[in-house]
Amino acid sequence: MFTIKGKTTDWELVIGLETHIEVLSDSKLFSGASADYNPTISPNTQVSMVDAAMPGMLPVLNEYCVEQAIKMGLGLNAEISRRSRFARKQYFYPDLPQGYQISQPADEPPIVGRGYVEITGDDGNPKKIFIERAHLEQDAGKLKHDAHPTKSFADYNRTGVALLEIVTYLDVKNPENNSYISSPDEAERYLREIREIARALGVSKANMEEGSMRADVNVSVRPVGSNEFRTRTETKNMVSFKFIKSAIEYEARRQIEIYENGGTVSQDTMRYSASDGTTSVMRSKEDALDYRYFPDPDLLELIVEDDMIERIRNTMPELPATTRARYINELGLAEYDAARLTESTDISRWFDTAVGDKPARAKSIANWMISELFAHPENWDEKNAVDRAQPGAPRIIRPSDLAELVDMISDKSINGKQAKEIFIKMLDDEDGSPREIAKRFGMEQITDTSAIEAAVDDVIANNPAQVEQYRGGKVGLLGFFVGGVMKATGGKANPAVVNELLRKKLG
Ligand code: ADP
Ligand code: MG
Repeated sequence: MFTIKGKTTDWELVIGLETHIEVLSDSKLFSGASADYNPTISPNTQVSMVDAAMPGMLPVLNEYCVEQAIKMGLGLNAEISRRSRFARKQYFYPDLPQGYQISQPADEPPIVGRGYVEITGDDGNPKKIFIERAHLEQDAGKLKHDAHPTKSFADYNRTGVALLEIVTYLDVKNPENNSYISSPDEAERYLREIREIARALGVSKANMEEGSMRADVNVSVRPVGSNEFRTRTETKNMVSFKFIKSAIEYEARRQIEIYENGGTVSQDTMRYSASDGTTSVMRSKEDALDYRYFPDPDLLELIVEDDMIERIRNTMPELPATTRARYINELGLAEYDAARLTESTDISRWFDTAVGDKPARAKSIANWMISELFAHPENWDEKNAVDRAQPGAPRIIRPSDLAELVDMISDKSINGKQAKEIFIKMLDDEDGSPREIAKRFGMEQITDTSAIEAAVDDVIANNPAQVEQYRGGKVGLLGFFVGGVMKATGGKANPAVVNELLRKKLG
């Protein structure tokens, strides 16, 4: 159910995402030119004759890009097509010298077929988001209209770089099926999951700010319980999670208002304005026919052999979903904690390093990371997962620091309160390991029973009235005695030992 300003409505959202990720590869999809188009590189220096569409130049498929697409496909739990083709998608615009984009046909299975991604749904349960397809295609160049009063510029460095477009699936014949994205938050979680899979596999940097991940956002609304999908709009080229969520919200509200006023939504292509968070019509929707797709006669059919898929499968690292399952099933973490710790491979690697070969540490490490470290991003470096001490460098909390702190609590050399103090000292740039800090500040707990026993005896001797009350049945007074002993020992006595001794002597 969709809420507008805190009020639930009778409408629900149907969202489909077309996500483009820029494929990591040294060279472009069909040419040997460098695929590095970052803004520090001079315009039009990474453009081959193929990219410039010089007459007679022939595209040659980059095998590595195909491997990358297969890797991502396996990461999306998807079928890999043994045969697929490349097609020309005609459009005339100066960012693409060819006059068409080489893509894969809209009406044939592309290299990656049906699959799914698992996210946490809004109800807190795991939810599968089905993928319809993922296809390889060329990226376009960049146009610059604001550098000169009367001229526009074109930079073709990005032209022809490989993109993988991942499209979510909507089972139009079964509108009751709810395994599609149905809220702005789910859209964000889906995109983050795609990003993490792509990064874990080294398929893409999938960085929205850099433009290596972009999404077209399809939105429609329908009354709760309805058994058909309604007309959608598509907002193009979104490059931030925040804007995507805001565009979905705005579109949903706009469409609901149209329906509630008796109107109909037309299938338009929209643009989003970041300055006021609104969408507006860019053009009415084109369809596949408008593009005059036809098989590219310069390229052969793409045939993928089984052993290529198996070879790639064998090199796959652990994916976020598997890591999450491992944390829950083997380390006993709660689902929420497992989800937070797998938000990026860097974070999960940090966590794994801290846990090391002691699974008993896992829950405490998870708690410390989520409630303390995440709140202090300036004091840790999630990339610094490989545990290395750098003398003289600013105090960064390392996996080994947290491991040691947690071990000190469990071997009772400090209590929880002292651990927190040590943690704060580390945040304040205190040098040394937690054990060294504890020693330096005299924070080690007293576990030596004879020392604690003396304090216990004192407290009992000095408070005869309370002792009498306690023995008369007022057992709640135990806390009073514990407090007295802790005070006498400067807070250093091990609380478990104090409790045990007091019970024995008072009882
Ligand atoms: P195209 O936009 O190129 O025509 P599709 O028709 O395959 O491509 O749809 C693109 C995306 O829009 C897909 O993710 C699909 O699931 C989604 N979509 C299709 N129909 C609807 C709808 N009625 N409401 C919301 N999303 C939709
Ligand atoms: Mg589309």
